[in-house]
Amino acid sequence: MKPSGKPPVSAPKSGVIASRPSFPVQLKPAAGVPTANKNMAAPLSRPSGAVSPKAAQKPVPSGLGLDSHAVRARMVQKLAAQGVTDPQVLAAMGQVERHRFVDSALVNQAYEDTSLPIGLGQTISKPNVVARMLELLMRGNEGRQGKLGRVLEIGTGCGYQAAVLAQLAQEVYSIERLRGLHDKARDNLRPMRLPNVHLMFGDGMIGYAKGAPYAAIISAAGGDNIPANWIDQLAIGGRLVAPLQSANGTQALVVVDKTAQGVKQTLLEAVHFVPLKSGTS
Ligand code: SAH
Repeated sequence: MKPSGKPPVSAPKSGVIASRPSFPVQLKPAAGVPTANKNMAAPLSRPSGAVSPKAAQKPVPSGLGLDSHAVRARMVQKLAAQGVTDPQVLAAMGQVERHRFVDSALVNQAYEDTSLPIGLGQTISKPNVVARMLELLMRGNEGRQGKLGRVLEIGTGCGYQAAVLAQLAQEVYSIERLRGLHDKARDNLRPMRLPNVHLMFGDGMIGYAKGAPYAAIISAAGGDNIPANWIDQLAIGGRLVAPLQSANGTQALVVVDKTAQGVKQTLLEAVHFVPLKSGTS
């Protein structure tokens, strides 16, 4: 596949995400962005026309006070205290407004170190786990300057992690198997105008060959093995981070590094992710 040809989005300046855009964006496929079928690849392209100024607005929750930036800064301090060191990951976590991705009843918990329900029985991981996985992805590209190249995310969910990844990678291809969440993520991400995020509805177990090879692959759902397609679609020198279920039912994070000599798998700490399921619904 050819990359979309669009320049990577530079990390938003502080306050750009915090202040709501005054107009919503329209979703339209960007020229050259690969599409697998009509259900896939809905790139979050730049607006092509102004619509109602109110449509993209979601009120800042009163419980967060006026300055959600300060709340996020505290979350980032906590992440650093918990051992997250990658400056790009910490900056990205400080940029993305997590409260915009959860239901209004849960916004007051949005910056706590807790996983939260996002509907259809799925959950958004706690910030610490998101940061840990992203840091592992970034470390896999040692020697690389700046951002990751193309990244594949399995399990878009509410779109939060895709938004964080958008700050760390040149292109993000994110697949979700549940239509309701795919739509929700698209709605959540639209006002952020991230032209390097491409949302796909489909079964992520088969990966997304048109975007391959990927510098990094990250899964937010755990199966009992790593699908062969993911390894195939990983670039030489690339890294995959995913939860993996063992025979006794416990899950652990696994890191897979693909080198010219072969594939190296490293099991890390225990985690609790929703199951990786095949097919769409
Ligand atoms: N990264 C997400 C977390 C979502 S939870 C966020 O920031 O919100 C994991 C998601 O993986 C769920 O939405 C679930 O539906 C999805 N999932 C599970 N199996 C999948 C598959 N085979 N393909 C695509 N998505 C899958």
